Amino acid sequence: MEKESPPPTGHLSRPSAEASTFPTPAGLYIHVPFCRAKCPYCDFYSVTDRSLIPEYTAALLAELNMLRNRVPRADTVYFGGGTPSVLFPLQVAQILEGLHACFSLTPDVETTLEVNPGTVDKAALAAYREAGISRLNIGLQSIDDQTLAFLGRIHTAKKGIDTYRWAREVGFDNVGLDLIYGVPGQTRSRWEGEMAEVVQLAPDHLSCYTLTIEPGTPMAKKVENGLVHPLEEQTAGELFSATAQYLNRRGYRQYEISNFARIAEGDTTDRRSRHNRKYWTFAPYLGFGPAAHSFLDNTRWWNHRSLDDYLADLKAGKRPVAGTEMLTREQQMMEFIYLGLRQTDGIDTVDFASRFMADFADHFEPEVTRLLNEGLVERLSGRVRLTTRGMRFLEHVVDRLLS
Ligand code: SF4
Repeated sequence: MEKESPPPTGHLSRPSAEASTFPTPAGLYIHVPFCRAKCPYCDFYSVTDRSLIPEYTAALLAELNMLRNRVPRADTVYFGGGTPSVLFPLQVAQILEGLHACFSLTPDVETTLEVNPGTVDKAALAAYREAGISRLNIGLQSIDDQTLAFLGRIHTAKKGIDTYRWAREVGFDNVGLDLIYGVPGQTRSRWEGEMAEVVQLAPDHLSCYTLTIEPGTPMAKKVENGLVHPLEEQTAGELFSATAQYLNRRGYRQYEISNFARIAEGDTTDRRSRHNRKYWTFAPYLGFGPAAHSFLDNTRWWNHRSLDDYLADLKAGKRPVAGTEMLTREQQMMEFIYLGLRQTDGIDTVDFASRFMADFADHFEPEVTRLLNEGLVERLSGRVRLTTRGMRFLEHVVDRLLS
């Protein structure tokens, strides 16, 4: 959800009570901009001073009210951050109450809370469930204490695994785990060893992210000073391919470049993240809280990436919007291509034709044929998708299609 903000145009600075005409149920995202400590690799917006949580919660409720019924229906709520699990269950309950008061949530709404294992105990997880959270996404990141220390995480591997077990014990039947791989010195066998232990836990969902050193972070400084040596691109690419191969063979179906959902024999439950799929399928979503982004009717807008500015605007009765952009038809096509390629289902050329009243082939042949001949993409019943090898070269394929 993090993105640098272009200059504001004021287009969306008015509160609107009109409902969107978009037929797909929307997703609602709550950005919780607080962390116990900053991890040196992370550039998500958050602050470590948690004294402003009560003020933030009140401001957030006001912001929800300003967009009351802006979408006709929503079927996902996602608390991301930052570290949403620094909120007390009572505060989460208050926010959920606000969401129910301001939006029409479907009866089967998926309500996810991201959890940092260093911030919770079993009683807190039980209380989140009681508050109305139906799905947890736990930032396990690694089950190797050395890796966790390198990443500056505030928890041990044991605490991460305990948190997962407590989640099950208190009744969560939909639990995802986040993992980071590609840390300096990591080998394929070490990473597969970690995945083996994680798979044993049988989480419903796995997100596996390559460690990326974001510019301006303390870790980027260490790299500049020669104190940290990132993995060679070739090795990182091999680990990427090994991840999909390993997990696909052990009951986890890759459905997006970094995301895997568990499939069990004789069980048709869809364990993909319903909320995150909104971002990849061009569905509408509203984001609340500092730095949160929204997308509705081909318009994107984003809130101030500063808690102070966010609070000040809401105190003054204004929407905390920092910028907005109306996507041109060409930009929409580009995003459609990029997001389609991120998913293993690929680009739906029939959907493309009906959205843009244009033939996919007219726009993207003969480049698709060239990519096909190079084994980077394949065609599959009206879709164009990356091959397993092509997944390693997403940016390259996108550049070629869009140039
Ligand atoms: S806990 Fe999460 S959001 Fe906070 S600094 Fe660490 S990685 Fe970033």
